[in-house]
Amino acid sequence: MPRNANGSFRAKAHLPSKTCLSCGRPFSWRRKWKTCWEDVKYCSDRCRNSRPHKRSPEHDGAGS
Ligand SMILES: [Zn+2]
Repeated sequence: MPRNANGSFRAKAHLPSKTCLSCGRPFSWRRKWKTCWEDVKYCSDRCRNSRPHKRSPEHDGAGS
């Protein structure tokens, strides 16, 4: 009997994920984003449309 070169079943593809800039929740790759995944920043249109409160650019809390 011939043996399968691939002894194991095909592993489920590990989808890339990102963190939504609006709600802060992680979300996974979706088919509709296959052409623009690098530009996706929000988990949904709702989050994309809800912009965070405007802040003065001088108030950059980054760093210590
Ligand atoms: Zn979101």
